Amino acid sequence: MSIIEKSDKFHDECGVMAVHGHPEASKLAYLGLYALQHRGQESAGIASSDLGRLHNIKAMGLVADIFTEDVLGRLPGSLAIGHTRYSTTGDSALLNAQPIRVECNKGAIALAHNGNLVNAHLLRRQLEQNGSIFQTTSDTEVVVHLIAQSKEQTLPDAIADALRQIEGAFSLVLMTRDRVFAARDPHGFRPLSMATMPNASGKPTIVFASETCAFDLIGAHYERDVQPGEFVVVGNEGVHSRIFAAPRQQSSCIFEHVYFSRPDSVIFGRPVQESREALGRELAREVPVEADLVVPVPDSGVTAAIGYSNESGIPFSFGLIRNHYVGRTFIEPEQRVRDFGVRLKLNPVQHLLKGKRVVLIDDSIVRGTTSRKIVRMVRDAGATEVHMRISCPPTISPCFYGVDTPSKRHLIAANKSVEQIREYIGADSLAYLSLEGLKRACAEGKKVTYCTACYTGKYPTSLVDVEEIEPAPISLK
Ligand code: AMP
Repeated sequence: MSIIEKSDKFHDECGVMAVHGHPEASKLAYLGLYALQHRGQESAGIASSDLGRLHNIKAMGLVADIFTEDVLGRLPGSLAIGHTRYSTTGDSALLNAQPIRVECNKGAIALAHNGNLVNAHLLRRQLEQNGSIFQTTSDTEVVVHLIAQSKEQTLPDAIADALRQIEGAFSLVLMTRDRVFAARDPHGFRPLSMATMPNASGKPTIVFASETCAFDLIGAHYERDVQPGEFVVVGNEGVHSRIFAAPRQQSSCIFEHVYFSRPDSVIFGRPVQESREALGRELAREVPVEADLVVPVPDSGVTAAIGYSNESGIPFSFGLIRNHYVGRTFIEPEQRVRDFGVRLKLNPVQHLLKGKRVVLIDDSIVRGTTSRKIVRMVRDAGATEVHMRISCPPTISPCFYGVDTPSKRHLIAANKSVEQIREYIGADSLAYLSLEGLKRACAEGKKVTYCTACYTGKYPTSLVDVEEIEPAPISLK
């Protein structure tokens, strides 16, 4: 096992979008990002090309707040790429927002990346030794420098050369003055799909997006996924595909099905909604419980709870209501309200829960702090029993491929038994779905094989951060 340094882990959860050959390319990119907002809410950006210059606007905040009509008016052209990002890096957040735009010996390039590279730190050190000057702390900038320094003569060859050197998770979209490129790492960690739209010019508009829900909003027709190890080039001459790396065992992120993707998307060739409902059914079969009501923790637990209810015959009820308009900051009353932070977002429906034995369904327990408050709220609302069911196995190991999980010492399941977690969250019973049940529900082996490292600690790449996976006892009080 090799060691990577802390700075290599950026907790990047992102969505990407690209459009080639449409008079309102930046508007389509904006709408696509709007549909991908759940993949990152911290910053967003769009770069466009009018075949002469690359324009680039990025800012902190939500897509709809940044991209007003006026701002989109400053992004002319028929090509565009976009990015929406969630990151835990503080001050440097705007600096690290994407797309990244550079002028180099290969011309003007803009690039947007979903995923996390595991060898960025090593490559950066080599590049700096060779004179590269970095402007951000983002792993994505490494790709730009590798393209610039490549000895290959053409840009597609230089990009393929760069892609062969990076390791880890990357679903990338790139743009030059007249072409759009899309690439997916050989493991296929993150999703990336391609669609077409009819166009008055006769040539179809080509669109790429992290999730297919972005296509639905703009009326694009899903064609196919970008394959692991594939690099698609879209130019005036049409669409060309090349394979930049030998195929590996595919290891697509199973957590996209469990939590991250929107249920109305088709990810890795499988509808997310179908997986989530199957997760709930598997859960009901594996760990049944006698109860009066199945209640989801909204929104992530809803579809699994429907599956659990259908399979068990226990009635489903929205016993917790989510406020969808909670911002980042709020003013708390002087007199402390118990569980105020969680209560802002979720409120129990007392008359439904009172006197009932409740099965609460959620997709995961990470640190356990939110789950503990939710169980307490449901009990305070009058539930006589609270049974927690989780639609995946215990999260025992951090992700190095783009999902924001804390280091091992903060993952409750890495440090405590299921019984200790049950006690901590205050539930009458707690049970998780098995790894086999999870894989079955997500149809492993049919069209796709998955990365399940967060549940097994077995990583598909050789580079991982030993400090992050070092277990250390945590205090539960
Ligand atoms: P906690 O009990 O504090 O561990 O919080 C559990 C909640 O966090 C669950 O409702 C999950 O839906 C949610 N969750 C799990 N993974 C993530 C993630 N990567 N980003 C944001 N929320 C998450």
